[in-house]
Amino acid sequence: MQKDNYNVFDVEKIRAQFPILQEQVNGKPLVYLDNGASSQKPLAVINAMGDYYLHKHANIHRGVHHLSQQATTMYEESRKLLADWFNAKHEHEIILTRGTTEGINLVSNAFGRKFLKAGDEVIISQMEHHSNIVPWQMICEQQGAVLKYVPISDDGEFLFEEYEKLLSEKTKLVAVTHISNTLGTVNPVKAIIEKAHEFGAKVLVDGAQAVPHMRVDVQDLDCDFYAFSSHKMYGPTGFGALYGKEALLNEMPPFMGGGDMIKTVTMEKTTYNELPHKFEAGTPSIAEGIGMAATIEFLKNIDFDAAIQHEEALHAYASEKLSAIDGFRFIGNAKHKTGVISFLIGDIHPYDMGVLLDQMGIAVRTGHHCTEPIMTRFNIPGTVRASFAMYNTYEEVDALITGVEKAKRMLS
Ligand code: PMP
Repeated sequence: MQKDNYNVFDVEKIRAQFPILQEQVNGKPLVYLDNGASSQKPLAVINAMGDYYLHKHANIHRGVHHLSQQATTMYEESRKLLADWFNAKHEHEIILTRGTTEGINLVSNAFGRKFLKAGDEVIISQMEHHSNIVPWQMICEQQGAVLKYVPISDDGEFLFEEYEKLLSEKTKLVAVTHISNTLGTVNPVKAIIEKAHEFGAKVLVDGAQAVPHMRVDVQDLDCDFYAFSSHKMYGPTGFGALYGKEALLNEMPPFMGGGDMIKTVTMEKTTYNELPHKFEAGTPSIAEGIGMAATIEFLKNIDFDAAIQHEEALHAYASEKLSAIDGFRFIGNAKHKTGVISFLIGDIHPYDMGVLLDQMGIAVRTGHHCTEPIMTRFNIPGTVRASFAMYNTYEEVDALITGVEKAKRMLS
C-alpha cells in the first residue's frame, strides 16, 4: 500500500495548528478518530472567537456604535466567505443557522408548509441521519403528504434504479445525504438532483459529512438546498449554513418569528425582512459566526486538495489494514467511500471494543450513529466507527490496528 507523499501535504505542519492533538488520554497520546461526530479546531479559529469576546463583543445588525458595527462586519464576513467557498451565486442565498439539523428543519417547515399538500410525496433514503428523517416524518404527517424511502444495497449503496421507480409527478422534494455518516458512501447527488428535476421536484442535500472531505460547488450540483454544520469542518459547534436558491427562498414563508426577520411590526400585522434575514430570527451565535469565518480562511490558507488526497490515501490504508484482521467485517462497502469506516469484528459488541480502545487513548464512536434504519437494514446493534480528518496520520491508523487486535484478543 502506497502511503501518500508527505512533501505534498505536510501533516505535521497541520497538526501543529490543532493544540488538542497533543493531549494524553488515559496516559496515552490521543488518537482522535471521531471526526465524523465533530472535528477538532485549529488555533486560528479558537483565537478568533477568544479575541471577539475579549475585545470586540457587542450584538450585531442594529447598533450604531463602533463595537456593534465591527461585530456585524466580522459576523457577515462568514456569509461572504461561505458563499465564495461553496460557489453560491448570491451571498443572500446563504442562511446562517445553528447547523445541519436547523437547516433541514427550516426547509421541512418553510418549504413543507407552503408546497406540501395532501397526497404529495417526499423521498429520502434508508441511509439518512435521523436529522434528515424525523423532520420529514413530522411535516408529512402534518400536511398529509407521503414519505417514501430509497433502499440501500448490501454494500450500503444508494439504489438508483429503486429511486427512479419512486419518482413521479407527486414527488415534491427529495432529501438525501451527500456522504453517509455511518457507511461512508458517497452518493451520486448530481445524478440524483438531475433526475428529481425531471419531475419538477426540489432537492435538499445533507452535506454534514461531505464539507470536510470535498469541494462542494452548489451551482455545479444544481441542488435547491444544501445544509451543513461548521463543527464537522474544523469550525465551532452550534453554527452552520443552509444554501438555498434565491427564487425558492423568496417563495418560502419564514421559519421562526422574532427580531431581525421583520421589516415592520404593528400589533395587527408583520411584514418580513428580505433574504437572508427573513430566515434568521433572534440574536445569532456571533462568536461562532466569527469562528466560521476564521475556519474558511484556514481552509483557504492550506492546500485543501492535498488534504483531501491525504485523507483518501489514509482511508484506503486503514481499510486495507483493518480488513486483514481475522473476523473483520465492513458495514458499508460502497465503491465510492470516504471519511468513515464502520466495522464489526466477529461477534464482539461494538461498545466493548470502543471502551477498550478508549483505554488505549483511541477515540472512536460506537453505536447506531443516529442512523437506526441502517442498523435495522443490516440487523446489527451498532458499529465501531473510525472517522478521519486531514490531521490524522499513518501512525495513528497503525495504533488503531494494534488496538483493535489487542481488544479482539481480550474480548474473544
Ligand atoms: N447529517 C449527517 C449526515 C450527520 O452526520 C450529522 C451529524 N452527525 C447531522 C446530519 C446533524 O448535524 P448537526 O448535529 O451538526 O446538526
